[in-house]
Amino acid sequence: MEHKILALGQQKRIALIAHDHKKQDLLEWAKYNRPVLSQHIVLATGTTGKLIEEALGIEVIKLQSGPLGGDQQIGAKISEGEIDFVVFFWDPLSSQPHDPDVKALLRLAVVWNIPMACNRASADFMFSSHLMNEEYARILPDFTAYHDRFINKPDQDS
Ligand code: PGA
Repeated sequence: MEHKILALGQQKRIALIAHDHKKQDLLEWAKYNRPVLSQHIVLATGTTGKLIEEALGIEVIKLQSGPLGGDQQIGAKISEGEIDFVVFFWDPLSSQPHDPDVKALLRLAVVWNIPMACNRASADFMFSSHLMNEEYARILPDFTAYHDRFINKPDQDS
């Protein structure tokens, strides 16, 4: 498949999500990384966003709560090119009512080659990268061939 390049700007649009048992972890991480987060645009699922806003005093664009569609909103924004970076502390030890939405979000982040940290160590490594403050040439598959693929049309006479 051919590739194309999509530039990630210096200021990134970062989505934050944490499942309930991981919210404390994300809050501690976010407080430590407040100086970096405050330089970017932060979006979050509803409850996570409210907690981050209160704890850090930064502006957060709050979407719907995860189980009510927030994860799907973030996935949709990824496919529309409106999110550049995801920090998603999902809980591997509890079942979630919106498990299909969680999987869908993880999948879309990979489809669109979005940097995504799913635990604290990954988020630490990624946030300490010099790329956080630079433009980045994100390599994407060129989906033109996929869009133009031949689909058998139903026989109109039958
Ligand atoms: P919440 O959603 O931030 O609204 O709790 C997170 C999730 O469970 O996906």
